[in-house]
Formats: sequence, C-alpha cells, structure tokens
Amino acid sequence: MHFDSLSAREWKDPRTTRPHVLPIYATTSFDFDDIEHSMRVFGNQEAAHTYSRYGNPSVDATAAKIAAMETFDSDIEAMAIMTNSGMAAIDLLIGGLLKSGDKLLTQHTLYGGTTELLTKIVTRNGIQIVMADLSETSVIDDHLQNDPSIRLVYFETPANPTLSCIDISAVTEIVQKHNRWTAIDNTFATPFLQQPFKHGVDFIIHSTTKYLNGHGTGMAGVVLGKDIQLMKDQVWPHMKLTGCNCSPFEAWLVYQGLKTLPLRMHKHCTNALFLAYKLSEHPKISYVNYPGLETHANYAIARKQMSAFGGMMSFELKGDITDAISAMNKFKLCSLAPTLGDVDT
Ligand code: PLP
Repeated sequence: MHFDSLSAREWKDPRTTRPHVLPIYATTSFDFDDIEHSMRVFGNQEAAHTYSRYGNPSVDATAAKIAAMETFDSDIEAMAIMTNSGMAAIDLLIGGLLKSGDKLLTQHTLYGGTTELLTKIVTRNGIQIVMADLSETSVIDDHLQNDPSIRLVYFETPANPTLSCIDISAVTEIVQKHNRWTAIDNTFATPFLQQPFKHGVDFIIHSTTKYLNGHGTGMAGVVLGKDIQLMKDQVWPHMKLTGCNCSPFEAWLVYQGLKTLPLRMHKHCTNALFLAYKLSEHPKISYVNYPGLETHANYAIARKQMSAFGGMMSFELKGDITDAISAMNKFKLCSLAPTLGDVDT
C-alpha cells in the first residue's frame, strides 16, 4: 500500500465496549460487507443504515426516544421521523399526507410561521387551507360533513402566542366520526405535560428547537404518527426524497436535552404559575394570560389534558406602547430573543 492510500484510508473502529452515551454518527454513509449485502438492503430484504439522509443512528435513537415519551405508559405504538426544523416537520407531514385537491382545516391561532407556511407555500401545491374556530365542535362537524376534500384537521394547544387551549378529545371524536386525520403541534406542552395520542390524535409534530432541546443550541423538528405503515409508506419517503432530514449533531443535542426534560418542565411550570399569580396582583397589570390561572378562559380544558400548564405566558399593562417598551427594557432576567423553552429564565 502506498503512503497516500494509508493516509486516505478509514481506520478500523477499535471499539470493544458499548459507548456510555449515544455517539454522534458524523458519517454520510455506511459500508456494506459485500455487494450482495447492499443488494439485500436496497431490495428491502434486510434493514440497515445506508445513507444518512435515509436514516442515521444518532437521529433514529433520538426519534425513537421521543416516540417512547409520546406513547409513555400506554399500548400505543408510534413512529417518529426527525427533521431539520419544526417548520420542516409541519411541511413534511402535509407533504407526506396531502395531495393537490385536498384541504386542511385549521384555526387562526397558530404559530405565525405555520400560518404563513400554510397560506403562502402549501397552497402553491393545490392544497386549500380552511380556517375555522376549532374550539366549537359543531363548526368542525359542519365543515367535515359538507366538505369531503378536508383530509386533515391541524391545531395547536396551547397555541402560540395566545395560549388558547382546545379540548383534544372533543376534536378527535368528531374527526374520527368522519374518518379524517388530526394533527397537533405539541411544542408548547411537550410529552411531559400532554400526550395527545392518548386523546385520539393521529399525528404529532414538535419544534424540538424549543423545550425538547431545551438549551437553545440546535434547530430540529419531529413528526410522529400512530399509523406506522402510513409513516413508512408516505412520510418517510417524502423526508428521504426532499432531504429535510435532521443532522446527527442537532439530533444528539436534542437527545441530551431529553434527559432533563422532566426537571426543566417541572421548574418552568412552577416558575410560571408563581409569576402568573404575582403579576395578576400587580396594580399596573390589567390581564395575565396563563392557562394555569383559574380565571383563564381555558383553565378547565388545560387542566383536563395537561399535567401542569407550561412555561409560556403573556400579560397586558395598564398603559400604552411607551409603557410597554419601557417595561420590556427593564427586564433583568429575561433575554429579549425570538424563541422559547430554553433555561434562561
Ligand atoms: N411550532 C411552534 C409552536 C413554534 O413556536 C415554532 C417556532 O417558534 C415552530 C413550530 C417552528 O419551529 P422551528 O423554528 O424549529 O422551525
């Protein structure tokens, strides 16, 4: 062997014991034992990692752990596919399930990026978006009854930024009656506080960029589905062919975050509830928007389906925009940054 070949060569992995923590598999592809092995794998006779856009051990382990969390303590099985952002997860779900001529029913209160994705991008593919008040089950019933092209009902609870909550079981009961799908963005609650599959939801998405990573260090997302065959046949091929896969490093950052999710969420929830009560008593504050306050319009719904009320809140000052700006600039512990779910506050 020439020195150049020795230099260029991949060295034998000297590992003799299992790593204590999941490694970052920073590799684009995986070697086959021989060409017959590759033919069996590409012929779907044998499962194996081949190319990291199709699957990667760091990404798959993180996805499987999130699926275990979303189905915890139940006999539900789910498959999870990680993506390179929360937006990519929403786009993947819709791209995998819907085709031109189909419609998606949703609500006005969604993360702003999601509303833009639905109304400006998804519509380009001939998929129509129908907006309605999903807190009224009769409204959902009417829409589904009158329009067979609505295939998917998509919502957030608690919603970003209003924190309004929707009764998940009430929605899924109506949607199942019409034999359509439901999908929920569970980013604000996380599986620690709310497990929508148990309330009959078909698909869950997360921006793992938020609480699941928990430290503001990486963008990623995940799509989960209970119909594993449908996930394998429609959602996974869409991920693999559009290349919205999660990178092993970003997945690994989420993997680290998952270990402290219960501790962080518990602290976020107790901090938020304490602060919500304190702010409610403040003479210069007119309204505190936190579903954990008994006075909140959706308190009963949140209490029914969440084990605690999350770390997000908003409040209104008695005053004008100048007072609001002045108050914001006086915050000492909050960073002024366009994200949520990190440990900063
Ligand atoms: N869903 C919710 C509820 C969000 O708050 C966000 C981002 O803020 C997203 C989805 C999009 O996630 P990402 O920024 O990871 O693409």
